[in-house]
Formats: sequence, structure tokens, C-alpha cells
Amino acid sequence: MDEFALISRFFSRPTPNSVLGVGDDAALIAPTAGMQIAVSADTLVEGRHFFADVDPVALGWKSLAVNLSDMAAMGAIPRWFTLCLSLPRADAAWLEAFAEGLFALAEQHGVELIGGDTTSGPLTISIQILGEVAPGKALRRDSACDGDDIWLSGPTGAAAMAVCHRYGKLRLDEDDLAYCAERLDRPQPQIALGHALVGLAHAAIDVSDGLLADLGHIAQRSGLAATVKLADLPLPPLSDEACALPQFDHCLLAGGDDYQLCFTAPVQARPAIVALGARLALPLARIGNFSTGRGVHLLDANGQALRLASAGFNHFND
Ligand code: ADP
Ligand code: MG
Repeated sequence: MDEFALISRFFSRPTPNSVLGVGDDAALIAPTAGMQIAVSADTLVEGRHFFADVDPVALGWKSLAVNLSDMAAMGAIPRWFTLCLSLPRADAAWLEAFAEGLFALAEQHGVELIGGDTTSGPLTISIQILGEVAPGKALRRDSACDGDDIWLSGPTGAAAMAVCHRYGKLRLDEDDLAYCAERLDRPQPQIALGHALVGLAHAAIDVSDGLLADLGHIAQRSGLAATVKLADLPLPPLSDEACALPQFDHCLLAGGDDYQLCFTAPVQARPAIVALGARLALPLARIGNFSTGRGVHLLDANGQALRLASAGFNHFND
């Protein structure tokens, strides 16, 4: 199977929302009049972002999920994406499974694969995504305001617990592992939430590197201090034994990969956000607030400051 046969067999699908899809020197898209385009890219490298033996269906899903999550965090509606694949070999069964996971999620969100590049090399998946957002409405990291509440779309930590389990750093029982592995392998990008937060929230970020680290990006870009109450963080539904493991708190605060949305909103928006959580069946949790100052501060149940050893995962600092 040569490169062109591979592309046409696995990655050419109808693209009714594009002018021209896969097969030419470039794709053509016609953005909705008056909308701004949100553009983002993410690369997953074998051994760095996923295990060599990962289920290719899950990998296809996750490769797109992490990109969709960036659109959610901007409040953008995802429309199109490109896929750059570096493959060690053309393995039809693997590609079939990868495409199945990728297109299952693409169809759920109505996003179209319009092009890409295919080369041989170490397994690397790079996706660029394009979405639309009304001018001036994107949920930017620099837009938190003094007094804003901090909200989280759901519990963090489970995906990182699955990583610890797979590295043999801890042992989860069957039920806990099933829950955590699902969070790690098939994250659900919060597209509907992100879109609904336009006009309601001030700033947002998707939690990919760890809650405190990502919240730190909003704090820094907005020139404010974030204060989080540990007791108000939503916990993943794991056994008491799992929550008592020494790694648990670190996973909760610094584990990425769950792709929850963290956002800020004025106090007056509380009733609307609670109603939104009910409408979308999401356990939206209010975990702290922004104030003048800088950095991220974590308080224990008595309101005492906790020291933060390592706030998150950083590729060039571990
Ligand atoms: P070019 O020689 O112009 O770079 P390619 O031979 O790389 O074109 O690709 C041929 C067509 O297939 C292009 O339309 C390109 O966008 C598309 N394509 C290549 N790889 C992929 C992929 N992994 N997924 C989707 N489309 C792809
Ligand atoms: Mg090319």
C-alpha cells in the first residue's frame, strides 16, 4: 500500500461542509460570514504522550479529542482539521482502528478531515484544528477579572492515576482502573460547555497539563492571583483506597489529560452557570476565586495556605 492508497483508503471521507477536501494541493474552506477562525495544533509522540501498545482506536479518538478540547476552551465551534501522520509502517489493521476512533469523535462533533501529510518515521500524530467564534467572544486566558469565581467542569486526576498504574507506580483495582483508563484513553472534549460559556464566562483553559499549572496560565495572563480551596475540588468517583494513595493529591492538582474546562465568571453569573450544569448534565464545581496579586494559592479546609511543590507537568522541566 503506497502513501496515496493509504490516504484514500483510510482518510478520505465526504466533506459536505468544505469547498474542497482531501486530494488536491490544498483544501478549500468557506468560513461563516462574520466569524473569526480559531486555530490550534497538538502533536502526540509515541513514548511521550502515549504508550507504544495503546489501543489504536483510543489513540485515534484521543488525537482529535485533545484538539477539540482547545476549541472548547476558546468557546469556538470546531469545523475542520488536518492530520499529519508519521508512521513506522503501513499497517492496515492499525490504520483501520486508528481511523475508526478518529472519525467516531469527528462525526460526533461534525468536524471534517480536509487534508494532511503522511510520511514514514517514528509514530507521531499531529492534528491542526480550525473552529469558528464570533468576533470578540472567544474565552481567552487573559480575560479573568478581579473577583471572578473559578469553576471546573468535573473532576481531575483520574487520567493521571491511570498513567501511574500503567507505569507500575501504584495498583488500582479493576473498577477504579476501568474508570481511570476511560478518562485517559477517551477524554470527552467539553465543546457544548465551551460554546455555552460564551458571554457568560470571562476566561477559560482546558486542563491538559494539570489544574494548578493551567490555572496559573490564566492568573499570569490576566495579571491576577488565583486561590483554590482544596476541599471544594470535585473528586473522581474512585474507591476510598484509591483516594488514600500517596499519589492521589498530586494527580488531582497536577495531573493533566482529563481535559476538563477550567473557567472564570463573575459572581452574578452563578445562577446561570448552575442552570447550565443542569442542562448539560455536567457536575460544574466552584473551586475558588481570582483577586489582585499573582500566582496560584491553595487553601486547606481551615483556609490555611498549602505549599505547592510541583504545580504541573512541563515538557522541558521534568
Ligand atoms: P502534496 O504532495 O501536495 O504535499 P500529499 O501527497 O502530501 O500532497 O497529499 C495528497 C493529498 O492527501 C493532499 O490533499 C493532502 O492534504 C492529503 N493528505 C495527506 N496525508 C493525509 C492524512 N494523513 N489525512 C488526510 N489527508 C491527507
Ligand atoms: Mg505532502
